[in-house]
Parts: sequence; C-alpha cells; structure tokens
Amino acid sequence: MAGATDLLVHWPIRPEAQDKTYLDLSAISELRPFRWTDVSLHIGALTTYWDILRDPQTRAEFPLLHEAARQVGAIQIQSRGTWAGNIANGSPAADGVPVLLAYDASVVLTSMAGSREIPLREYYTGYRNSVRRSDELITSIILPRRRYDFSVFHKVGARRAQAITKVGIAVTREAGARAANPWRVVASSVAATVRRCPAIEAFLASGALVRVPSDFFASIDADIRPIDDIRSTASYRRTVLARLLYHSLRGVSATVV
Ligand SMILES: Cc1cc2nc3c(=O)[nH]c(=O)nc-3n(C[C@H](O)[C@H](O)[C@H](O)COP(=O)(O)OP(=O)(O)OC[C@H]3O[C@@H](n4cnc5c(N)ncnc54)[C@H](O)[C@@H]3O)c2cc1C
Repeated sequence: MAGATDLLVHWPIRPEAQDKTYLDLSAISELRPFRWTDVSLHIGALTTYWDILRDPQTRAEFPLLHEAARQVGAIQIQSRGTWAGNIANGSPAADGVPVLLAYDASVVLTSMAGSREIPLREYYTGYRNSVRRSDELITSIILPRRRYDFSVFHKVGARRAQAITKVGIAVTREAGARAANPWRVVASSVAATVRRCPAIEAFLASGALVRVPSDFFASIDADIRPIDDIRSTASYRRTVLARLLYHSLRGVSATVV
C-alpha cells in the first residue's frame, strides 16, 4: 500500500479480496525521493504526482510527467497517488504509465533475493498482469535523460477533470540521430494494457504522407485492437485515436500534412 488511492476504492466493494495482509510503505523514507544522475532520473516508489509537479527540473526535461500529473484525479489524488502505484495497479486507462513508456522508462523490482531492472514496455503480460513476482516491490522507476524536440500527452474523457481516460496518447520524438527511429507512440485505454505502438512509430518514420486521420488506421489496426467497454466503443476509440495522432502531429512531422 502506497498512496492507497486505488486500493481503498475497491476495499468496500470487494471485501473478500481484502482478506490478506497489506504492508504500508508510506513510512519508508528511502522510497520517497527522486534523484538525478548524469544520465537518468530515478523516481522512488513513494514519489507522488505532486512531488513531480513541484519540481522545475522535471518540468524542463520531462514535460509529459507534468502534463499527466496535472490530469490525474484532482489535488487530493495527485498529493497521495504514486507513479509506482499507477504501474502496479495495471489499469489500461492509467495516465502515468503512457508518459513513462514514451520516455523509455524501466522499473526496478526488488525482493529479498535482490533487484532486477525491467523495461516498462516488457512489464505487462496481459490485463492487470505483469512480470512482477508477488515477493517483489517496485522500488524505483528510471528514465534515461535524452533530448526531445517534440512531446505531447492527450487524455480524452467524459469531462476535463476527475475523468477516467477513454482514449489517451503520449508521443515523444528524440532529437539527434542516436535512435534508429526517434518516435515513441503510446496509446492508453484502447487495449488490455497501455501499449507502445511500433507500427505507428514505423509508419511515422517511413516518410509516407498522412493527409487525413484515417491514414493512420492501417498502423493503428496493426498495433492494437480497440476494446468495447462501459466507457466507450471500439469504433469510437479507433476514430479518436487517429484524430488525436493526426491533429497532434500535423505540421510537427513533415509527413503529416
Ligand atoms: C477519485 C480518483 C481519481 C483518480 N484519477 C485517476 C486518473 O485520472 N488517472 C489515473 O491514472 N489514475 C487515477 N486514479 C487511480 C490512482 O489514483 C492512481 O493509479 C495512483 O497512481 C495509484 O497510486 P497509489 O500510490 O495510491 O497506489 P495504491 O492504491 O497504494 O496501490 C495500488 C496497487 O499497487 C500496489 N502497489 C503500490 N505501490 C507498490 C510498489 N511500490 N510495489 C508493488 N506494488 C505496489 C498495491 O498493492 C495495489 O495493488 C484515481 C483514483 C481515484 C480514487
């Protein structure tokens, strides 16, 4: 239990699922801070959205962390909810996970047996399932420090605040020639997990012209199969995802006109 903002929602609804012991992490001060090295940002397991919102350096280097944090719940949730809890909870509609994925984050999992670092893109194995063993805690999240010349996060919900995401995107483009493909495209709330979208990334790097939102459909269909659920339909999600991509990238990428 970290901020308990996810856990306590389910507590009264599914009491039978609570017939177990929780470990309250909140007093473990070593898990709270975030720190910088020359090459990375380390976000401790108890780092909240509010901790990040108060930090000017993360705003300068990782602006999408701020964009997402500002749109998680409201101030009460932002001041208690943690980035690690957002990953561990595993909701496909999570807002922290997409921006972490767009920055190529990795997750440090620690148990009595030691620590291992897993790229976040390899963390989820299915709906609310992950490679994390039951004896492991997420102890930190590591973001490589890189230069980006474009980034965007969009969350579409039923209203502008306190809304669960129906469709979300996080997109970054790395500056310079280090990466074979500088694009990172992540979609949320359109599949069983938050997803990196390699076909859309390859499409953007291919030089193919995109003249209308529907030009994204083929690559969207290669990456994800949008879902029907109580919040929205698959068809709405596919259409809105294409429009979000088109209107976010028009004029930014030379190929989206
Ligand atoms: C009113 C309301 C609005 C919300 N709005 C949003 C929103 O807009 N966007 C969004 O993404 N989420 C939202 N949430 C969900 C929630 O606030 C976030 O997912 C938050 O980041 C969860 O973090 P936490 O520290 O509170 O997790 P907790 O509730 O403490 O834990 C969540 C799960 O993660 C596990 N866990 C926590 N920390 C660790 C760790 N270090 N290692 C291993 N397992 C761990 C817990 O055992 C539990 O299973 C909202 C919740 C509420 C109640």
